[in-house]
Amino acid sequence: MRERIRMTDDGEEKYCHKCEDWHPNTDEFFFVQRGKLRSPCKACIQEKRFTLKVCCVEGCNQPRKMLACRPGSRCVTHERMYRADYKARKAVK
Ligand SMILES: [Zn+2]
Ligand SMILES: [Zn+2]
Repeated sequence: MRERIRMTDDGEEKYCHKCEDWHPNTDEFFFVQRGKLRSPCKACIQEKRFTLKVCCVEGCNQPRKMLACRPGSRCVTHERMYRADYKARKAVK
């Protein structure tokens, strides 16, 4: 995706192809990846994160397992870790 940047009186603005809107070209509106501000904007990524049901573990971008109506669902890897941990805690008792 080619970057679209424009100069305004308030500074540089970057185009978000997702919400089709211009936002200030700062890390307040865009996530930084490898030293560059990435499109789409933060709001769009957060929205995508929510609709795609990403793993609830912080910093994990794996899609979560689609478990029915369970809040805080994890991806397959984290679910396994959680279960192993749960079993270990039960065994300690
Ligand atoms: Zn956007
Ligand atoms: Zn995960």
